[in-house]
Amino acid sequence: MGIEFAADNYVTTQLRKVVNWARRSSVWPMPFATACCGIELMATGGSRYDISRFGAEVFRFSPRQADLLLVAGRVAVKEMPVLQRIYEQMTEPKWVISMGACASTGGVFDTYAVVQGIDQFLPVDVYVPGCPPRPETLLEGVMALQRVIDTDGLPPTGTKREPLGLSIEPTHTPRPQPVPLTMGNS
Ligand code: SF4
Repeated sequence: MGIEFAADNYVTTQLRKVVNWARRSSVWPMPFATACCGIELMATGGSRYDISRFGAEVFRFSPRQADLLLVAGRVAVKEMPVLQRIYEQMTEPKWVISMGACASTGGVFDTYAVVQGIDQFLPVDVYVPGCPPRPETLLEGVMALQRVIDTDGLPPTGTKREPLGLSIEPTHTPRPQPVPLTMGNS
C-alpha cells in the first residue's frame, strides 16, 4: 500500500493510496443472477471459494448500497430496462462484471428475446468467460478489478468513466475425456 515507517509510533502514506485500499477491500456486489451462472456465483460466496477473502462478500440487494454490478446469466430484452435502472441507482464509483457467455454475448441463446451482450447497454469493466465460469475465474475478475482500483486517481477523473473492458482468461484446464474408470481390485 505504500506505507512508510517513519518512526516507532507513526507511519506515513498517501491519502489516495488509503482511499483506494479501502475501496478495493470493500467492493460490495449487487447480484443480478438470472440463470445457471448464478449458481456458480453462489458457490463463489460459499466456504470453499470464500469471496470474503477479497472483501467482496457483502452482497447487497439495494443498488444504493452496492458498487459492483455482477450480471450472471442471460438477460432478456424485457429485463434490460430494469437492469439499467439498477445500474443508474448505484452510486459512483461503480463497476460492472459480466459473468459468463450469456451475459457477455448472449451465449447459446441466439434469439430475438435475449440481449446479445449486456455491453450494448451497460459499461462492462470485466468480462468473465465460461459457460458457466468457475468460481476461480470470477475471483480472477474481482482481483483484476481490485488491481485497477488500486491505481485509480482521486477523485475519479472526468464525469463519465469509460468502461475498462478487461477480459479474464479461463483458469480451469478441462481433464482429458473419457476419464479412465477403475473398479474393485483390478
Ligand atoms: S453462460 Fe452457460 S451457465 Fe451461464 S447462464 Fe449462460 S448457459 Fe447458463
